[in-house]
Amino acid sequence: SSFVDVPKIKMLDGREMPGIGLGTYLGFDQSGVIKSKDKQLRDVVLKAIDIGYRHFDTASIYDTEAEIGEAIRTKISEGVVKREDVFITTKLWNTQHKREEVTTAIKEVLNKTGLDYVDLFLIHWPIGLNADYSYSDVDYMETWRGMEDVQRLGLAKSIGLSNFNREQLQRVLNEGSVKPVALQIEVHPQIIQKDLISFAKSEGIVVLGYSPFGSLVMRYGIRFPGPRMDDPVLVTIAQKYGKTPAQVVLRWVVDRNVVPLPKTVNPKRLVENINIFDFKLTPEEIEKINQFNSNTRYTLPSFWQTHPYYPFEKVPNPISDPFRG
Ligand code: NDP
Repeated sequence: SSFVDVPKIKMLDGREMPGIGLGTYLGFDQSGVIKSKDKQLRDVVLKAIDIGYRHFDTASIYDTEAEIGEAIRTKISEGVVKREDVFITTKLWNTQHKREEVTTAIKEVLNKTGLDYVDLFLIHWPIGLNADYSYSDVDYMETWRGMEDVQRLGLAKSIGLSNFNREQLQRVLNEGSVKPVALQIEVHPQIIQKDLISFAKSEGIVVLGYSPFGSLVMRYGIRFPGPRMDDPVLVTIAQKYGKTPAQVVLRWVVDRNVVPLPKTVNPKRLVENINIFDFKLTPEEIEKINQFNSNTRYTLPSFWQTHPYYPFEKVPNPISDPFRG
């Protein structure tokens, strides 16, 4: 059979995180985020649990929390897993950054999922917004105090950050009462994040890598420049281990001590993406893949770049805000 026993990683707060997570962001189109049709995502998560996935990455803005919760509850009631065997990560949206709103937000998540707690709750962005998506001046340190409340209440077992840059992470470490245990950032061969990963590691923070396939796959219906599935460097390594280039890239993430979050809704690729724990790249192979780095981000919300807490480098021609139309 095709069950994979995924290794776990110890976090600063003593808890453990499964070393690969299933991404569940289905993208967005003109009318907003893309929703799962006919409970497709629920069925993907049911299958994922059968083959060994124990970690699911979602966010309030993805609108996939309810289906993930439904699948997890089904597998618990079938006796396939216990609640403590499953790890669910979700993220606070930018419009709920005021301290008291953080508790309201996690309670909404628990209502939607039918679970008593989530394993990891992240601030999705350091950027606070009002309900109408105009900029709010709420400081992410206030938001962090709200995250600490949620952990104290037991509604999220662990708390962390997403899309914070080094200075912002440093400030949370300096001024917070609790250290963030995890940082979720974009990691793939075109943005290898050497400095931020080594800084996070030096603080004992687990790094989660989003969009791990980078330019290997279509994004927004477009093929971007950069290595593809048929790239000779990746194909050569893949042939050596009897793996696919997609598996090599996921293993490169794992070998850099980062937890990859590949998204797929395809049953065959679901199996492919988890079968990466029976081989290991050499330091030379890791370095070869590092050479693709061009600091290219596919998640670059330049429409927020005039916000005081925008985390990334500014671009000359920011795109218009898809959330505001
Ligand atoms: P990924 O790098 O996971 O790429 C997903 C794409 O690759 C899909 O089109 C998928 O298609 C395809 N794919 C998956 N596996 C394979 C394979 N083995 N071979 C070929 N194609 C494959 O990108 P995402 O941007 O979705 O990132 C993953 C997850 O990270 C998200 O779902 C989300 O959970 C998280 N994320 C977090 C962000 C944040 O701000 N914190 C931002 C962006 C992502 P198919 O489904 O048809 O297989």
